[in-house]
Amino acid sequence: MYCLIMAGGGHAQLSVLKALAQKPLGIDAVLITPSPYQIYSGMLPGWMAGHYNLSECRIDLRPLAESAGARLIFAQVVGIDAKRRRVSLSDGTHLEYDGLSLDVGSETDLSLLEAAGECLLPIKPLGNFIQRWPNILNAASQQDHYQLVVVGGGAAGVELAFAAQYVFATQRCRQASVVLVASESGILPGHANGVKHRARALLDQRGITLVQAQAVGTSEGVALSNGQSLSADCIIAATGARPPAWLRNSDLTLDEQGYVLVDAHHRSVSHPNVFAAGDVCMRGDIHLGHSGVHAVFAGAVLAHNLIAAINGHALESYRPRKKSLYLLATGPKHAIASWGAFSAQGHWVWVWKNWIDRRFMHKYGVLNRDDAA
Ligand SMILES: Cc1cc2nc3c(=O)[nH]c(=O)nc-3n(C[C@H](O)[C@H](O)[C@H](O)COP(=O)(O)OP(=O)(O)OC[C@H]3O[C@@H](n4cnc5c(N)ncnc54)[C@H](O)[C@@H]3O)c2cc1C
Repeated sequence: MYCLIMAGGGHAQLSVLKALAQKPLGIDAVLITPSPYQIYSGMLPGWMAGHYNLSECRIDLRPLAESAGARLIFAQVVGIDAKRRRVSLSDGTHLEYDGLSLDVGSETDLSLLEAAGECLLPIKPLGNFIQRWPNILNAASQQDHYQLVVVGGGAAGVELAFAAQYVFATQRCRQASVVLVASESGILPGHANGVKHRARALLDQRGITLVQAQAVGTSEGVALSNGQSLSADCIIAATGARPPAWLRNSDLTLDEQGYVLVDAHHRSVSHPNVFAAGDVCMRGDIHLGHSGVHAVFAGAVLAHNLIAAINGHALESYRPRKKSLYLLATGPKHAIASWGAFSAQGHWVWVWKNWIDRRFMHKYGVLNRDDAA
């Protein structure tokens, strides 16, 4: 029997599980995931800010796997041998596959911050971040002059800094402060000047200090490339992504950074029985940035192509739209919209974001407070 291994239950893999549930193929489908839950990163800042319960921001993979007729294995993939069509798992076992669907995401690049030790909190894995965040909040409410440093000026770092400042202010962590460290080129690379301007003005308004310099971890906090240093009680690392190191020995063709190189069908350029979507892969034909938007939209193509490859049908290409919509949460129920050169902000943008996020979660069986009432 044809064995399809789904490695990781990321944003794209959700579409694969849905498609298998709709069209049973009579194959041996296996989902390998370290956790029963897929956390939706788009709602994480809203969870930190207190707008959502944890159960509203995570998708339970167990019922999805069951309706897809997939076996569920709680483990991490720690190696792939694409030549032998085999994956190695963290529990020491190995599984052979006929087809492989990879959606394990990326890791946080901690190479410059590691010396900060215990106070370092990487944003990924998200499950670990969620477990540790309440302790940070508790310490910030009890300690005088608690200083949280968020390193990373991309969308994630900016949203996390806003969420942390908002929750500090509303939960009476009166003496706690937030510093956002972005690289010399500033916040929100890739977004229009109008978006950057709006975000900078809001950071200023909310009392979040923005520093533009390269940060290196030290035992007290971070040393900056401008010669200054910052003490930190906690450093959230929302620094760039890096691919899982175990891909290096997989025999799959990787790009120069180590991501799985795929074509327009999201098929490995070296191994036609391997498909990948989301942060773990890089397109060879176009530049496709790592974002949840692309992981979600490429998911539908991934699902189609995995099934088409099994049935010998034609594959589809993922053609990203020229402009993607990003809605950035800014702490309270307020957000900034970014779409090409267009930008806007306000409570109405948050309402729009909330509607999109909840609609996505609803698709995968997550009830929200309004549904439950
Ligand atoms: C705070 C924050 C806010 C963000 N906001 C936005 C936004 O507004 N818009 C946007 O477009 N992007 C946003 N992003 C980026 C977005 O989260 C990622 O690009 C997206 O999650 C990538 O999806 P993915 O499916 O590739 O990986 P993930 O969502 O990371 O999923 C990977 C899955 O694989 C599992 N896994 C990991 N390693 C293994 C392994 N070895 N074996 C098996 N399973 C494994 C994980 O548990 C996880 O379930 C945000 C990121 C963060 C951190």
